[in-house]
Parts: sequence; C-alpha cells; structure tokens
Amino acid sequence: MNTEQDVRIRVENLYKIFGPNPEKAFPLIDRGLSRSEILEKTGNVVAVRGVSFDIKKKETFVIMGLSGSGKSTVIRCLNRLIPATRGSIYVDDKDIMKMNKEELREVRRYTMSMVFQHFGLLPHRTVVDNVEYGLELGGMEKKERLEKALAAIELVGLKGYEQSFPHELSGGMQQRVGLARALANDPEVLLMDEAFSALDPLIRAQMQDELLELQAKMHKTIVFITHDLDEALKLGDRILILGPDGTARQVGTPEEILSDPADDYVARFVEKVDRTKVITVGSLMRKAPVITIPREGPGAASRAMENNKISSIYVVDSDRYLKGLVRIDDTVKLYRKKERALEPALIKDFYSAYEDTPIADLLAAALTAKYPIAVIDKDYRYKGIVDRATIINEVQVDAEELESPMHFTQMEECLLSKVQEAAAREEAEASGE
Ligand code: ADP
Ligand code: MG
Repeated sequence: MNTEQDVRIRVENLYKIFGPNPEKAFPLIDRGLSRSEILEKTGNVVAVRGVSFDIKKKETFVIMGLSGSGKSTVIRCLNRLIPATRGSIYVDDKDIMKMNKEELREVRRYTMSMVFQHFGLLPHRTVVDNVEYGLELGGMEKKERLEKALAAIELVGLKGYEQSFPHELSGGMQQRVGLARALANDPEVLLMDEAFSALDPLIRAQMQDELLELQAKMHKTIVFITHDLDEALKLGDRILILGPDGTARQVGTPEEILSDPADDYVARFVEKVDRTKVITVGSLMRKAPVITIPREGPGAASRAMENNKISSIYVVDSDRYLKGLVRIDDTVKLYRKKERALEPALIKDFYSAYEDTPIADLLAAALTAKYPIAVIDKDYRYKGIVDRATIINEVQVDAEELESPMHFTQMEECLLSKVQEAAAREEAEASGE
C-alpha cells in the first residue's frame, strides 16, 4: 500500500450484506437491483454498497445520511465490531480485515475508542469506575488507570463528579462520562455514533461546542456520525454523505457540499440550507463591556466608553437584565451637570436577538440599526453584542459565493452600500481614529 502520509483510515470498496447468504446478493448488485429488490429475492440486506473514502489524521470526519443509510454499519466495520463482507479497511496502513484476534484487540484498546448514542454506562459503577472500566479490561494496574481516568474526567469538565452514579447526572453529563471513557486510554481515533443525538437541543449544541474546543486541543482523528445536517456542517472538516441505498454520494468540506452537491440526492438534502440560515447570532457574538446600574452612572459610563474607544455602551441592572444603551455625548453632558443617574440618557430603540437567531432574520436590522445589536437570553439578560459590520460581512461572503451578484435587489444593494460605509466609519471609530 502506498498510502499518503496524512491518511489514518482508508476504506476501499466496502460492502456489508446482512443475511443468510451474502454472496448471493452480489450478482444482483451488479445488475443494479435496489436494496428492497435484493432483500425480496435473496433475503439479504445490502447495508453498505461499495463505499470508499479516506480519513486524514487530525480531522473530524462526519458520516451523514438518513436513518437506514448504513452509517452505523460503516463505523462498526472500521473496528471490525462487524466484519465487512467485501472490501478493505486500512488503519495506519494495516489491514483490519487481516488482523488476528490479538492484533485486533490491540487496535481496539489503543488505537480506536467508541462513544455510543445511549452512553453505554454501567449503572452500578461511579463515574470514575466507569471511566476506568476500559483500562481495567486492558489489565492496567490500579494506580495508573486511576490517574488516567481522573485526567480524562477533568478534560471533559466533570471534575467533582468522580464519585457520582450515572443516574445522578443529566444526559449531557452522562455523555461526557462516555466521552471520558473513550478518551481515557488516549486513543488516536474516536468513533462517535450519533453521540449527541439523544440529547436535547440546547445541551446538544453545548456538547458540539465542547467537542470543537476539545478537538482544538487534542487533534485526534474523529469519526462522527449524525443524521443532522447542521451538526455535520458544524463539526465536520469533511463530510461523507451516504444515500438511502447504502452508497457513498459525496465526500467534501461543508462548503463543497453546500455549494457543489454531487447529485440530486445531495442537492435535495442541502437545498434548504442557506448560510445566513445556518449561521446564528451566537457564533458572531462578541463580549462587550457593559455598564451596571445603579452602581455605575454617567461618570463610569463615559470612562468605559473612552477606555474602550466606543461611542455607545449597553446598560444592565445588577441581575444583568438589559435596560438600554447610552451614548458618550449624552453621558458626558450628564456628568458635567453632576447627575448621578444614567436613566435620563437611556436609549431604548435598539435591536436585540437571541443567540440562536439565524442571521438571516437580522439582515433588515443590520441594514438600518444605529447601534450594535444586543444579544440576550430568553429572560432578557444581556449576553453580548453583534456588530452590524460582522453581519454584513457574512452576507457579503455569501453574495460572492453566488455566481450572480444580482442576487440582491437594487434597493438592497443601495442599502447595503450605505451600511457598508456606515460600518466602515464605525470600524474606524472603534479603532480610535
Ligand atoms: P444507520 O445507522 O444509517 O441508521 P444502519 O447501518 O444501522 O443504518 O443500517 C443500514 C441497513 O442495514 C438498514 O436497512 C438496517 O435495517 C440494516 N441492518 C443493520 N444491522 C442489521 C443486522 N444486524 N441484520 C440485518 N439488517 C441489518
Ligand atoms: Mg445508526
């Protein structure tokens, strides 16, 4: 095998056929019969049909497809939990299919770890005992495995919960335990089969963010399975899309898949995704200084704006509820008049959004807003701001990606250029000119 240096896993022409006589299915596959026709004629299920792909070192490789498209079967073939019917699977240039029991055990123990959708925790073991479990099976001595387990627990943010039992933890925390167990022996490859699919949406988004952060530190090879396109776009360096018949339809970066779908199936899968609908306010939000009333007044507000070289600043109360914003010229006037309270200067006509608001919903606001857009939670507590220029920039990128710039109507274009000027001014101002 002359494999490129940066390839960790290479899958060549993989077939998995479940049933009484898998070989009987191949002539029918060659004739192009469908999964259901082959099932009817032979009693075999063609779960994976001639799939080839490479996974690079340090990449997060997402396998995406609808339920039944063969995702779980593919990932289980990678560590031979399921033997492939035909094809080759190389891990670091070694053929998984040709390994003996001992070699296979080594690979599963040291090279690849799996994280499951339903956590797979042992209910009567504590967090630390669950995380140690794999190491224990591997025959590692107590002191060393405890050390490794504690380090993994800390890595996933569960320090302090070592002695808890799974049922005492939320779903998100239980999945962290699953992740810690997989990380405990420091594997090169993490296999994650719908690992976040059982979590509720908020926790799920949080786990995705944490996985991204963790991966930025760990640089593992991650194989992540999902049926959710947004999750795939968010996590994947590259994405493999499986069709409903168990064939590979496309491998590419999120951008390639969105902008250049390989066939009608992929196109239909992604057509409803528009960047401005995928990108949310949360991803563009930045923390910005705030003023807390009544503790701070016109003097503190003026000073904060001066120090940060900004002309307006948001105001919250001591519970961080958003009260409005103030402008520096108004606060300076109040200060000179020796006023103590900021209220007379509070401006209420600003735009606000939630972290999960798609920026598509904010375009109009970005085009007309006078101030940065405030990001709040559902209780109206302040989280941060999004600058109008940031939103406009996203839209511009989007416009450039389109072949025809006439995507914008003339009026929008006119507005856009005005806002770009204003944004440029704002930026100049922010940089202290
Ligand atoms: P996914 O994970 O994408 O939902 P799976 O890999 O679980 O898909 O399944 C792919 C196809 O193979 C499905 O049609 C499923 O019913 C079938 N299949 C999976 N496992 C088995 C099995 N052990 N025996 C028979 N058919 C199976
Ligand atoms: Mg599955």
